[in-house]
This record gives sequence, C-alpha cells and structure tokens, in this order.
Amino acid sequence: MSPKNKINALREELKEHNYNYYVLDKPEISDFEFDQKLKELQDLEAKYPEFYDVNSPTLRVGGAVTKNFTTVAHEQRMYSLDNSYSKEDLEDWEKRIKKIVDGNVEYTCELKYDGASISLTYEKGELVRAVTRGDGLQGDDVTNNVRTIRSVPLKLRGDYPDKFEIRGEIVLPLEGFAKMNAERVEAGEEPYSNPRNTASGSLKLQDSAEVAKRPLDCLLYSLVGENLNCSSQFESLQKAREWGFKVPDVAKLTSSTKETIDFVNHWDIHRHELPYETDGVVIKVNSFQQQEELGHTAKAPRWAMAYKFKAEQASTRLNKITYQVGRTGAITPVANLEPVQLAGTIVKRASLHNADQIEKLDVREGDMVYVEKGGEIIPKIVGVDFENRDPESTPTVYIDRCPECETPLIRKEGEAQHYCPNDEGCPPQIIGRIQHFISRKAMDIEGLGGETVTLLVNEGLIGDYADLYELTKEQVIPLERMAEKSAENLIQGIIASRKIPFERVLFALGIRYVGETVAKKLARHYKSVDNLAAAKMDELIAVDEIGDRIAESVVDFFQDEKKKELVERLKSHGLQFMVSEEELKGQTDKLEGKTFVISGVFEKVSRNDLKKLIEKNGGKNTGSISSRTDYLVAGENMGPSKRTKAENLNIPILNEEDFLRMLK
Ligand code: AMP
Ligand code: ZN
Repeated sequence: MSPKNKINALREELKEHNYNYYVLDKPEISDFEFDQKLKELQDLEAKYPEFYDVNSPTLRVGGAVTKNFTTVAHEQRMYSLDNSYSKEDLEDWEKRIKKIVDGNVEYTCELKYDGASISLTYEKGELVRAVTRGDGLQGDDVTNNVRTIRSVPLKLRGDYPDKFEIRGEIVLPLEGFAKMNAERVEAGEEPYSNPRNTASGSLKLQDSAEVAKRPLDCLLYSLVGENLNCSSQFESLQKAREWGFKVPDVAKLTSSTKETIDFVNHWDIHRHELPYETDGVVIKVNSFQQQEELGHTAKAPRWAMAYKFKAEQASTRLNKITYQVGRTGAITPVANLEPVQLAGTIVKRASLHNADQIEKLDVREGDMVYVEKGGEIIPKIVGVDFENRDPESTPTVYIDRCPECETPLIRKEGEAQHYCPNDEGCPPQIIGRIQHFISRKAMDIEGLGGETVTLLVNEGLIGDYADLYELTKEQVIPLERMAEKSAENLIQGIIASRKIPFERVLFALGIRYVGETVAKKLARHYKSVDNLAAAKMDELIAVDEIGDRIAESVVDFFQDEKKKELVERLKSHGLQFMVSEEELKGQTDKLEGKTFVISGVFEKVSRNDLKKLIEKNGGKNTGSISSRTDYLVAGENMGPSKRTKAENLNIPILNEEDFLRMLK
C-alpha cells in the first residue's frame, strides 16, 4: 500500500472507532489498540507531511491557540425559545397553532440539554466552522476548540447534503464534571460551580489542547439549510444520526398535548438517570411545511416551545452554620439542615460557598431555606423564606477566627474565600497536607491511609510529612488496629516512596495551585528543586502555562524558611529532588537562555511537540513577541501582525526546517 493509501485507511478506521466509542458508546477495540493505531498514523503523518489534513483524527488532541475569537454572522438567526410551565400553557400554544395551520399537527418532543449552544457548518462532508450562539445574530468562531470534542464528527458518513448547518448543545457530562472538580480540589483550587458554565467557558479557552482534556460532549438537535431532503423534524434527527452525529434517541413523536405531557412527566423523573443535565423539554411542530407557515416572532419560533422542569427544590430548616478548614486553609461555610428528601436522596448539608454568598442570601441560623440540587455535588441553598423568619433573628456574622485553631482569618484581595494562615499549627491543615502527600497521585505510600495519618498526628508521632521518614516500627505497633505485619508494611511503604520521581514529589509538597500537571511542567522545566527554588517571579511566568497566581505561590513557598527546612529534611532522607538521568535523556542545553514564540500551523511536528522540544533543549516558550524574544518559529497561516512585529524588532524568523536544524 502507498503511504497515502495507508494514511487514508488509518484515518478512516480511526474515524469509525471514534464514532463507535464516543457517539454510539459501543467500542469495538480496546483503548490500547486504538492508541497503537493512532500512534501509527501520527508517525506516518510526521513522515509524510504532504498529506496533512486538519480533520485528521490525530489532531483531536488540539494544539491550535486562538488569541482573539473572530466574530461570525449566523446565516440564519439562532432564536431563543418561548417558555411554558404547565399543561394549560401548552394547550394555549396548541390553540394558537391550530388557528394558523390546517390539518393534523404532530410534535417532536426532545429534551432541553443544558449547556452552550453551538452551530456547526459542514461542507462536502467535513466540519468547516463552529460558532457560538452569541446574541443570536452573530457569535464567536470556536472551530479550533470544537474540533477537539470527540463526539463532533470531523468527517461525515452516508448521504449528506453538500453544505448545511447543524445546531446543538455542548455539554459537560456530570461524571466528567465531578472528576474535573475533584482534580481542582486536589490542587487546592476552587471547584467549578456548575457544568453549564464550565462547558461554555471551555469553548472560549485560548489553548485548544486544554479544551481537548475536558470531557465535553456535543448533542445535536436541529438541521438548517436548503436541500436537506427531509420534510420533518423527526426525520431530520434520524438523518443527522445516520451522518454520524450524536443525536439522543429520547426524541418522541406525539399528536396531542396529553401525550406531550406524558413525555414531560416521564422525563421529569427519569432525567436524573441521564449522564448530563437537562432543564426541560423542547416541543417542536414536526412538519417543516407547517413550521414555515407558523414562522417566528421577534424573539422565538412560533413552532417550538420549551417546557421548563421545576428545579428540584425542598424547603427545610437551617439548624446551624459550621465552618470547615481545608488542607490549604480555605474556609468553607456549611449549612447543617433538618434532613429533607430531595431528588431521591436525603439531604442534611448544603454548601454556602463563602461569606459573600451568605450575605447575598441573608441566611441566618433558624431560617426556613430553599435547597436545590443542580449539577453540584452537594446541594446548595438558593433562598430564604423571609415570611417565616423569627423576628428576633439577627444577620449572620461570619467567623473571624479559625474554628480549629483560633487564628484570625485573612482574605486576599480579589478572593472569595477566607483562609486560616496558621498552616504550621492548624490541625486540619497539618493532617490534610500529609494526607495529600501520601495520596495515590503523589507519593502513593502503600500501607498508609488517611485515617492512619490522622491517628499518627493525634498521637503526636508526626507533625509534618518529613516526620514520616523518621518513624520507626516500634512507634507504630502500639497504635490502634496496628500489628507487627501492618507496621512493617507501613515502614516499607515509606522507604519505597523515596524512589518516586521528582515531578510527583513536587506535587506532593502541596504548594498551592501546583496540581499534577503544573508540577510536571515545573519539574521538566527546572529539572531540580534547587533551580525551581531560585526562580524569580518573571522567570516562572515565562514558563508555558504558568500564570501570576501559580508563580507567586511557588515563590512564597520557597521563601518560607520553614518550608525550605522541610525540603532539606526530605532531601536528607533521600527523596528525588532532581529529574533522573533517564528522564534527562534527550535533554540538552542547545537552546539555553533562548526565548521562542511559536505561531501558525506546522507540518512535521505539532505545536505542542515543538514547545516540548524547545523546553527539552533548554529554551523558553512565550506567547507574544517582545524585545526579549530571540526567535519566532513561523508555520503556515501565521497572523501578519506577528510577522510585522518580529520584523520591526529584528527578530529572526525561522521556519520548521530551520528550527529542527538548530537541534541537530
Ligand atoms: P433559552 O436559552 O432558554 O431561550 O432556550 C433556547 C436554547 O435552548 C437554545 O439556544 C438551545 O441552545 C437550547 N436547547 C437545548 N436543547 C434543545 C433542543 N432539543 N432543541 C432546541 N434548543 C435546545
Ligand atoms: Zn486554623
């Protein structure tokens, strides 16, 4: 087979597997096999750049960066929907319809997916553009980001029209959302508040590689265009499904409001079993012919109606507000409720987020409050029943001292959360830090769990994570639920953890905002803790993806005498504070001290790999051209303003070949 044919065959095959996995949810090969084939294709594409294709399955991982999203006018306006809340509302709507159209009216009932609306344009079976709804008349071109969403087909199958638009909703399924939040909490960051906002925020990220990491999904519900070759909504959904789009199959044809209400009632209950959030049902007149007769109002089509589910709400008494202290010292107020049934579970606690939220809602202990369950993991309080408030009650006064150690709390400019600054002496912070240190993604100490850490701290055997390495078997044996064997395992586990690579040790230190990925970045860039500790603010910021907040936190950490001492003690116990020989392989100083800006699209190596190559060889990546830039590496389609700027500043412009030659 010629390379070209081989590449095409692999692309076609991967497209099928991608479809089976992400659209049909029925994979036919293992992830491992998939990765093997992908790797094979990547290698071929690198070897034969002349067969580049933006829609190749290898490019799902992203890499393209959009600094400013271009505004694009919608060919046909993206309307809102009118809302209805009761059977009566729907009957009124039906009457209005019957006045305008003759004959029977059928309806397609669909779920109203709660995410960010998107319009996708396909030409000759390939995705050419993805645009947000914006104000309905024009939106932002987010094509680079949408390409990374695995359930969006880049190439279609079957018998599709030459050119058409399809609309749908980009959602963040609940499971993926929960996972993202767990990772954020682990890195000491505030969790995202709900899947919808996170989905729409994701579309506007500048780096598509970041978008690719988010488990977004795209559900389609409407075809727009001429020559669609179908005559009804229901049929068009069927067609879209055949062309490879993910169209949920809950859609149902009904011929009366009564049947529609049955559909609504069914899904009002069963929607909680779906992997993503919905906030209602959308009912559409099925026949395109009748849709046309009905037309639009200024705001919405007359042929469609949203029916909003009532948010699952319950009212109950707020008994007490308590305050939790996290491992980074962040304070979270918690509402302790009179237990109440909500969306199938009994709720006893709800989040109050922070002091501003309490003030905004004006919640007080003893109030009757309304609790809702959204996409959040714990339910939230959305309001107070003021009429039932005890006239004697007084506004909640937020605590000003740590509930665990009495230290006065602080609140940094621009941050919503209060913090307990006593990180050395505040028990939940001490325990939390050590628990983080031993956790699976950090030092992964076998034989030691979170509860044992609490026990060890409470017994006064350890006070920080360096103390772990000084523990003896004899000290541990007398502890509750310990025996000779388990104590031995614990000590062995601690000894074994000395081999854990630097990047994970760095993560384990628990520097605020330094999560798993940031730790990797820093470890690769600085190669040793000494280099990192010596780094200045502006040097840190120059590292790819390190912003002010992270940089400041790193600098603070290594300026703290106590932290320095901790690191020294860990060093003396033989932990890895340098990238190992093995990891260093392929690393050189060829680009030492040189700052690069990469722009455009490349043929042989992806942007990401180019950046990695620069870092591996000691160079620095930055996003924008300044007098401190040493080289601009220019690919295809680089913006003309970058080139002009580089020329004005006399910065050498390299193409891909020139750059690769520098490394030879
Ligand atoms: P609203 O923003 O409340 O006016 O509702 C209109 C929005 O609902 C549209 O812009 C779509 O993004 C969204 N939507 C979600 N599911 C559907 C669906 N099945 N059909 C039409 N619109 C939908
Ligand atoms: Zn404290």
